[in-house]
Order: sequence, then structure tokens, then C-alpha cells
Amino acid sequence: MGILGGTFDPVHVGHLRAAIEMRDALDLAEVRLVPAHVPPHRPQPAASAEHRLALLRLAVRGVPGIRVDERELGRAGPSYTVDTLTELRAELGARPLCLLVGEDAFRGLPTWHRWQALFELAHVVVMQRPPMPNSPDLPAVLAKFVAGREAHSPSALAAAPAGLVWRQAIPPLDVSATRIRAVLRAGHSARFLMTDSCLRYIRGHHLYTD
Ligand code: ATP
Repeated sequence: MGILGGTFDPVHVGHLRAAIEMRDALDLAEVRLVPAHVPPHRPQPAASAEHRLALLRLAVRGVPGIRVDERELGRAGPSYTVDTLTELRAELGARPLCLLVGEDAFRGLPTWHRWQALFELAHVVVMQRPPMPNSPDLPAVLAKFVAGREAHSPSALAAAPAGLVWRQAIPPLDVSATRIRAVLRAGHSARFLMTDSCLRYIRGHHLYTD
């Protein structure tokens, strides 16, 4: 199982393609999109938890193997990934679990609550877009921690419940929720950046306007 967390404010094709690419490249039975209630690292989302969840449900409707997991929305206080993975581990037994993170998030991992414990609970899969010129090195503490944990192939992830790091290249899609919010605020079209079902919901509920 793969876990893709985020604010999803709103969910867009970058998220959906990333989930599908990961499902197919790693042969995952399921990828769960996990919207955060109170992201510890970020300003509060523009849309309420209820709207972000409704948009996610619309976006994944009919997409095999992609689901929404709303557990963080029901939890009081900050949404720490380590808590989410602890709950999932209790439910999954020894099934392999993959935490899917973008490269930027991976570089910032040492700032996450109990970050080293994440590797006891899940594999960490870095979704790698093509290498940027001058992309910074990993922080030394992280480079040291992951040395020796690198998987040699995706099949190694299937053979253990947790503990490995795998870098999976995905084709880049230059779409962000920030840009979509700006487009919508300006009264412009966000068509083809997200599903039509989500656009209809956003229009119907007057979201992301000032
Ligand atoms: P914002 O623009 O508000 O910061 P975002 O579009 O980056 O939002 P998040 O909810 O922060 O969306 O992202 C959740 C996860 O999806 C993160 O792991 C992020 O790396 C990944 N992600 C976001 N956009 C893309 C994209 N275009 N392609 C691949 N992965 C993406």
C-alpha cells in the first residue's frame, strides 16, 4: 500500500498522476490519498476540511486502486505522519507500506516529528521528477541515516514491511494547488488542471474566490 499525504487544497492532476504512476511502477494494490487536517509545516488551507475531502472523493471516483483515507481529518491536533503510519501499521500487520513523498519533502524529513521512526513503520519512496541543475544535496543527517537503506529494486519493497528508501522517477507535470488557487481567484479557467467533477464542485460552492 502507498500513502500520499498533502493538503490537497485542491486536489489536481499532478496528485492524481503521481498516485497512478506509483501504483503502476511499484505494483501497489492501493494508493491512499490522505488529506491533512492541521498540517504542522504549513499555513492553514484555503478550503475547509469538508470541501477538500469532497473534492478528493470526486477526483478518485472510478479510479481503480486509488482511495481517500480521511483519518487525519478526524484527529484533533496536528496531523503527524508518524501517528498515521502507526495506525496503518496496526491495521496492516506485516504488509509492506510505502510513504510516498516528493523530493522537497524528503529533503525536509529531518524536521518531521519523530522522523526516524517513520522508517520503522514504512518504506520511504521519493517521487523524483527529472534532476534539477544545482539541486541541493541531502542534509548530512538524512544522507547518513538513509545510507545502507537504499532498495536495489521495487521488488525489495514488496519483500519487507518497512525500512527501505527507493527513488522512483515520474514524468513531471508542472501543476500546483498554489497556481490553481491563483487562477481561480483571478476568475480564469482551471480546466484540464483538475477533473471536471472537481471544477463543478468548486464553482457550485464558490470556493477559492475572494
Ligand atoms: P501547494 O501548491 O498548495 O503547496 P501542492 O500542489 O504542492 O500544494 P500538496 O497537497 O502540498 O500539493 O501535495 C501533496 C503531495 O503531492 C506532495 O507529496 C507533493 O510532492 C505531491 N505533488 C504535488 N504536486 C505534484 C505534481 N505536480 N506532480 C507530482 N507530485 C505532486
